[in-house]
Amino acid sequence: MSTPSSGLVRLTAAELAQKIHSGEVSSVEVTQAHLDRIAAVDGGEQGVHAFLHVGAESALAAAELADARIAAGEQPASPLDGVPLALKDVFTTTDMPTTAGSRILEGWQPPYDSTVTARLRAAGIPVLGKTNMDEFAMGSSTEHSAYGVTRNPWDRTRVPGGSGGGSAASLAAFEAPLSIGTDTGGSIRQPAAFTGTVGVKPTYGQVSRYGLIACASSLDQGGPCARTVLDAALLHEVIGGHDERDSTSIDRELPAVVEAARQGATGDLTGLRVGVVRELGGEGYQPGVRAAFDASLRRLEKLGAEIVEVSCPNFEYAMAAYYLILPSEVSSNLARFDAMRYGLRVAEGRSAEEVMANTREQGLGPEVKRRIMLGTYALSSGYYDAYYGQAQKVRTLIGRDFANAFAQADVLVSPTAPTVPFPIGEKVDDPLAMYLNDLATIPTNLAGVAGMSLPAGLSEGLPVGLQVMAPALGEAVMYRVGAAFEAARDADEGGPLIARVPEVVSA
Ligand code: GLN
Repeated sequence: MSTPSSGLVRLTAAELAQKIHSGEVSSVEVTQAHLDRIAAVDGGEQGVHAFLHVGAESALAAAELADARIAAGEQPASPLDGVPLALKDVFTTTDMPTTAGSRILEGWQPPYDSTVTARLRAAGIPVLGKTNMDEFAMGSSTEHSAYGVTRNPWDRTRVPGGSGGGSAASLAAFEAPLSIGTDTGGSIRQPAAFTGTVGVKPTYGQVSRYGLIACASSLDQGGPCARTVLDAALLHEVIGGHDERDSTSIDRELPAVVEAARQGATGDLTGLRVGVVRELGGEGYQPGVRAAFDASLRRLEKLGAEIVEVSCPNFEYAMAAYYLILPSEVSSNLARFDAMRYGLRVAEGRSAEEVMANTREQGLGPEVKRRIMLGTYALSSGYYDAYYGQAQKVRTLIGRDFANAFAQADVLVSPTAPTVPFPIGEKVDDPLAMYLNDLATIPTNLAGVAGMSLPAGLSEGLPVGLQVMAPALGEAVMYRVGAAFEAARDADEGGPLIARVPEVVSA
């Protein structure tokens, strides 16, 4: 059965906010339209399966509160008051289970809200539900979720990327106008690229990690996902900013990203230097991806930007360093899943240790176990200096590469991912092939700088992402470039790329 989508679900978050705040539509209507859309396209054999849990009741209750504020003539709680959103299932929520895509947390109901969740609530944003992800955010396809794969709305035989495939797919399937992801090595940006949407990894420390189930704490960063650059900026300002509950939170004013996005959409880029990173985009990148990237450079040039080539020689070692640092932190962070404190307990065994071992054996998936073992090995005595210590040195060198590059260019650009979305099943048994997805996104996490992916164009009918990277706390220029690029592309192509996603038909 084909499902004609209600007009409301096709609108941007900015448009929805305007309509809700002016009283033209209610937040309840908008929220219900998205819940209906989820019911129509998310379930069944061939459904998108972006959601692990739908919280209709709590979403509608939040929508009613927003409507009451507006009816009473109060100021909206935020520029997004009443606009619903989908939340990656790695942020704790007191009114919905939080699983991080893992069997070991099946049905776990957290006793507290993450800071991101609390800020969404304070902003009047109804949370539609929790989105699917690779287990504990390890993966690039959502195939490592313990709860089944999410399908790419552009082609449902293909993956939506990962680990935040559910958050990205919910946008492309018009199940939510906004979503939230986390990015440790690319988990916001690569799914954005694969679904023709916008995803932002803020500067490390800009979005609180309090209540975010840790993958690798020195790399993890929450961020906004949307269908337009302006929508991402609106959400960025809701969730970003200092939080004393996160010891790595930056105590500085948030860059004015909404203003930057609005300016960018109307202005040109004259005088701006855009650096093309020589090491990101050559060998290993599909010809169709390179073609879309080259076309993007020409578009940036037409907008007045000066294109310069920069070299970041140590990026070559980023992947190797990441796959030592991340597993090391994972092996330590995931020790808390011990069958005693949270979630699953397999009560077979004669000792606490046996119960722990049996629980972890049954509760954790193969990719998570692989990384715990890698990390435990890398940190073990006698190997620490050779592996973890070396990787930390590479991390420093990558930071220096960025510093040099940003001395020559205001932003850096590259393709977001080396390929277009690949078929479900193609890489799931080949960890190295899976890891290569993040070739271009990992360096920003290692250095803590900011990155955005936005739709560049199509290759073989599938979306390709353009990555824009900016220095730490340089989000304003990143949003300005993104918005200018988006406006030019939409003008040239007679509308947004996302309008071309096939109507998703439920099974
Ligand atoms: N795909 C990368 C990994 O598997 C990135 C994950 C992430 O950003 N959370 O580690």
